[in-house]
Amino acid sequence: MSRSYIDHFADDFGPEKVIHIYEPKSKLKAIVVIDNLSLGVAVGGCRIASDVTGEEVFRLARAMTLKNALANLPHGGAKSAIIARPDDPEKEKLIRAFAVSIKHLTEYIPGPDMGTDETCMAYIYDEIGRAVGLPKVLGGLPLDQLGTTGFGVAIAADVASEILGIPLKGARVVIQGFGNVGSAAARNLTDRGARLMATCDINGGVYHPNGLDVPALLREREKGVPISESRVGQSIPRDSILDIESDIFIPAARPDIVTEANQHLLNTRLILEGANIPITHGAAKMLHNRGIWLVPDIIANSGGVICAATELLSLTEANAFDRIQTTITENTEELLERVKEENLPPHEVALGMAKERISQAMTYRAHM
Ligand code: NAD
Repeated sequence: MSRSYIDHFADDFGPEKVIHIYEPKSKLKAIVVIDNLSLGVAVGGCRIASDVTGEEVFRLARAMTLKNALANLPHGGAKSAIIARPDDPEKEKLIRAFAVSIKHLTEYIPGPDMGTDETCMAYIYDEIGRAVGLPKVLGGLPLDQLGTTGFGVAIAADVASEILGIPLKGARVVIQGFGNVGSAAARNLTDRGARLMATCDINGGVYHPNGLDVPALLREREKGVPISESRVGQSIPRDSILDIESDIFIPAARPDIVTEANQHLLNTRLILEGANIPITHGAAKMLHNRGIWLVPDIIANSGGVICAATELLSLTEANAFDRIQTTITENTEELLERVKEENLPPHEVALGMAKERISQAMTYRAHM
């Protein structure tokens, strides 16, 4: 992260620490951003990506600060990234080296994120005794296997459907990214009678005019068949997913997929942000002005971190799902009511809701 970058983003909330790691033996390159600790020890994912930047890690760490506050969790926000390909043959070595390098950063508990999973968290736990999103056998609640984030996205859909009058039965859903979040959201929404018109992965997409056969897609995913090779519908280029008309659009892939330059392509009524920061604030404002509703990431995709926080309390899977349902229902209701009353873009309203809670917690701190 360049100095000018920190200067640009630092504000009253953080970031409290920005750490760049290079470990010569394993060639590990990693970045950790601890954004704000006012609510407690920070919890946030550790991703592996070859193109991740310091700026992205900071923005993701800030999203965790806000998300944890909105979910009423006793945790601050942080994020980390190992700069490597997710299929690096030395992945275990890199993860173990990363764990050792953050051993003394005890105010940060890493969890799974893009390119990492329960097994990776088990390696970190083995090295330093600190990680969340662990395999069941280690007392974990494996949030990706349980599909907790996609479940939470569907809860946001329930509330929005009720308040905005968009029935889920028959609703046309388009999901960008068919990974842990996208596939679980697809399963939960089609269980409610919605139709998945199109989805994609990094290499390509698939479309069916009457709705895709989601159980067949899930079976293909389990076998490792990429969406671009799926036989359940017509192949489409990856980025044409944005053009497909829908009632609900769920970005569940990467940050900054929708920008001011391409937001006009979206032809939908409601966006549920499954991914973190998938839509720039500028684009979100334009979408709001076009009458498109949106539930931001810091509310819609908080299912995973609520599950992680439940694991840290040694509570059960059932507790996790209950807490996700209650929290996302309350937050989505408050958000949509406030957007209606204040006529402000949803990102601004959600940010305001989170900042109210963090500012209050910060009044109890003597030192930052
Ligand atoms: P994943 O790696 O399981 O799936 C990502 C999917 O997106 C894959 O299908 C991948 O091929 C696809 N993809 C990647 N780049 C793409 C592109 N440019 N265009 C289209 N598709 C692309 O990841 P995940 O766990 O499902 O996470 C997805 C997003 O949701 C990430 O932004 C992550 O930070 C966020 N998120 C995840 C969780 C969680 O519990 N897993 C919780 C909160 C937020």
